[in-house]
Amino acid sequence: MNKPVLPPRTDPNAPAMAAIAFGANLGNAQKTYKECIRRINALPETSVVRYSSLILTDPVGGPAGQPKYHNGAILVQTRLEPEELLNQTQKIELDLGRVRTIKNGPRTCDLDILLYDDVVMNSPRLIIPHPRMYERDFVLIPLREILS
Ligand code: AMP
Repeated sequence: MNKPVLPPRTDPNAPAMAAIAFGANLGNAQKTYKECIRRINALPETSVVRYSSLILTDPVGGPAGQPKYHNGAILVQTRLEPEELLNQTQKIELDLGRVRTIKNGPRTCDLDILLYDDVVMNSPRLIIPHPRMYERDFVLIPLREILS
């Protein structure tokens, strides 16, 4: 199947488009997702264009026996630069109670930047397109929904 891409920007002055993945397997994921959408929409110069339904998926990696995940994807228009968007999504993760413990361990809120216009970047903090997105159905299914 083709790799998903964001629609090309036709107006150079228009805001950038970005796709953000949501994942949660602790707490009330539906509520956390709605709260993420609300907070992302309230970021400066940023608005949520679409968001996917949540899908329930099996955990990949991490400790055995952790709960299933709820995964979704959020399409935004933004004038924030990629690193600033990451600062903001990381702040939302922390505000919503994500505690970073074990790698791939359970979490209340994980936000990853999947795509940002047609940007390809690899900085110490940020890799776009997100490096593992293409082999993960739990990312691709919600992403295809918001791009359809
Ligand atoms: P995770 O624990 O899976 O949410 O990974 C978080 C780490 O991945 C942070 O240190 C980020 O700086 C880094 N990272 C690299 N690329 C991305 C991306 N596209 N979106 C979100 N975090 C990223």
